[in-house]
Amino acid sequence: MIDTEIAIIGAGPAGSTCAWKLKQAGKEVIILDKSEFPRQKLCAGWITPKVIKNLQIDLKTYPHDLTSFTRFIFHVYGLRIHVKVHQYSIRRYEFDHWLLERAGVQFYPHKVQNIRKEGDTYIIDDAFRCKYLVGAGGTHCPVYKTFFSNFNPRAKNSKIVSLEEEFPYDSPEKDCHLWFFENKLPGYAWFVPKGNGYLNVGIGGKFEGLKSRGESIRDHWVSFIRKLAELGMVKDHKFDPRGCAYYLRQDVKRFRLDNAFIIGDSAGLATRDMGEGIGPAVESGILAAAAIINGSEYSTKSINKYSVFDILKSGF
Ligand SMILES: Cc1cc2nc3c(=O)[nH]c(=O)nc-3n(C[C@H](O)[C@H](O)[C@H](O)COP(=O)(O)OP(=O)(O)OC[C@H]3O[C@@H](n4cnc5c(N)ncnc54)[C@H](O)[C@@H]3O)c2cc1C
Repeated sequence: MIDTEIAIIGAGPAGSTCAWKLKQAGKEVIILDKSEFPRQKLCAGWITPKVIKNLQIDLKTYPHDLTSFTRFIFHVYGLRIHVKVHQYSIRRYEFDHWLLERAGVQFYPHKVQNIRKEGDTYIIDDAFRCKYLVGAGGTHCPVYKTFFSNFNPRAKNSKIVSLEEEFPYDSPEKDCHLWFFENKLPGYAWFVPKGNGYLNVGIGGKFEGLKSRGESIRDHWVSFIRKLAELGMVKDHKFDPRGCAYYLRQDVKRFRLDNAFIIGDSAGLATRDMGEGIGPAVESGILAAAAIINGSEYSTKSINKYSVFDILKSGF
């Protein structure tokens, strides 16, 4: 049995940020993830200046490519709207690995199956014992499932289904494009150029909205890919997208029970309009760490529920 003060389950941005802050405060913390790192994570990898600030990333020394955008191109009902912004994109394959290494805590590749509370401690798979337990395992987080799902059932109408592919493609088009409501999609599609010759294209929409019309996200994906070809934005690529589901921010009742916390997608914090989840994952990781360090309240009230105002403001 490995004994530790704090165990974090999930080494995405939420878990690694929480681990980084706890380690800085001199806490004894370990992090478990079912994947070895670096690992693939479906995500457009668009991040805001606030994420850079909260993570104290020095743009000059970040070892991977960090693409910056000074405008987004929105496509709405056939209109092409140029919007001044100040935003970034990263590759999650690199970014998450870098965050985990920077946290500097003991990492265990381990798929958590079973958690139980025994007195004041939590026992994970009869292999790890901790006083504080942080659930950062994303949508299917075992901490959420074990302790929080009864209090915070996932609202069906907040479920987003997505299809996405990130691939080496030296696109001449360097702007980030976003298409809203194409073919009445209850969501949006994106084209996000990355550094080092990578491109990320994807589409996401509300599952319930699609289901009520007898449509699937794949139907919309097919139309979207056709559109990219017609616009000459992606040529001669045989697409092989992967799918993933997650939940937008809901009115969640509990984020902490005794000494168990949920953060990031485990707590369902992605913004309601754009499904931006990296920023909320980072912020909730910092807030949970502060609660453990200072014995203070853990609240996610300060985390933005919407992205669009910040995007528009960032260009000024
Ligand atoms: C297609 C798509 C595009 C997106 N684009 C953007 C975007 O451009 N910008 C943005 O801000 N957000 C975006 N998001 C949302 C964003 O990816 C998530 O909100 C963010 O990754 C949440 O971070 P997290 O650390 O909470 O969870 P995750 O990044 O999902 O990390 C959870 C970790 O937990 C591990 N884990 C899960 N179960 C277990 C287990 N049983 N045992 C051990 N480990 C486990 C997983 O392996 C994983 O590494 C997108 C999401 C999708 C699906």
